[in-house]
Amino acid sequence: MVTDTLDIQISRAENSNISQLDFNNLTFGKHFSDHMLVADYEDGQWQNFRILPYGEISLSPAISSLHYGQAFFEGLKAYKLADGRVSVFRPYKNAERFNKSAERLCMPQLPEDLFVQSIAALVDIDQQWIPEKENHALYIRPFMFATEAALGVHPSSSYKFCVLTGPVGPYFSKYLKVKVETEYSRACDGGFGFAKAAGNYAGSLLPAKKAAEEGFDQLIWTDSREHAYVEELGAANIIFMIDGKMVTPSTRDTILKGVTRDSILEIARSWNLPVEERRIAVTEVLDGIKSGKVTEAFGVGTAATITPIAAIGFEGEIYTLPDPAKGEYAAKLRKTLDDLKYGRAADTNNWNFIV
Ligand SMILES: *Cc1c(COP(=O)(O)O)cnc(C)c1O
Repeated sequence: MVTDTLDIQISRAENSNISQLDFNNLTFGKHFSDHMLVADYEDGQWQNFRILPYGEISLSPAISSLHYGQAFFEGLKAYKLADGRVSVFRPYKNAERFNKSAERLCMPQLPEDLFVQSIAALVDIDQQWIPEKENHALYIRPFMFATEAALGVHPSSSYKFCVLTGPVGPYFSKYLKVKVETEYSRACDGGFGFAKAAGNYAGSLLPAKKAAEEGFDQLIWTDSREHAYVEELGAANIIFMIDGKMVTPSTRDTILKGVTRDSILEIARSWNLPVEERRIAVTEVLDGIKSGKVTEAFGVGTAATITPIAAIGFEGEIYTLPDPAKGEYAAKLRKTLDDLKYGRAADTNNWNFIV
């Protein structure tokens, strides 16, 4: 239900850049559609929603987001359905999480309908940018950042909400070799790991770089107290198949509550597959790989979709999972979710928001 209706001022780009793009050769996050959306939070309210040609914006070097990190984002995707309509996948879930991130970072709420309508209007204008290929979509990046030009640690009095879009192909093109991180932490108790705060990703870069130097594609983050429990996989949630059950870490303040995770758990439950959301000890996973109880492990997220893990490194030892190419559930879940997202299966959950 739409309660707040939005008045968006639209200035169209004179020329489209679409002909310069090779849709068969997309690098994730490098290509932007012709338009972007910008809105300002001033004097205690959101105003001046506008769609304009994608391009640079001018800002003071003193804006507080650059100094104190009041900045966060969202990530979701638009698809061209089999019948030609355009859909955004579960945008109200992202709207809800957007406001959870905003609350934790002491930033203003954006009414969910304004978030979704902003996205719908922008996707509509640039809908020819939606790739019509399997495993491809239009990635949507909403974000908010503090714009008050003042050096002093306090909540900013002004903010910008922006949305960018761009066509993407698969984020990962192979099965992953991942490392259990036992030194660094992505998030801590009482922190803001559950928020898509820019700073969380800054803190993850050095550990990820070190792991890459050791030959790993991604990190399995563990709890910051003991490094004994599994939390996430890079910037994706993690799911294991253990003894025929789907097992995933229960969400808490150190774990980002993924929309993909939620969708997959709901699909698994609809199949009457046992689903457990609980603490998972690293030792349970490693022992389970050795004993054969752990049959599959995969990362799940909007960008990552469902990416199987082939091997896990822990304290110098490599634990090899069964061949992911033969993994039953990752492939079956991927197909079910894709059929839904591309409009080839009945959308019984109403997850496709038609633009
Ligand atoms: C975005 C993100 C996810 C996945 O969330 P989705 O809503 O499924 O895209 C998981 N973990 C982290 C840390 C993330 O940033």
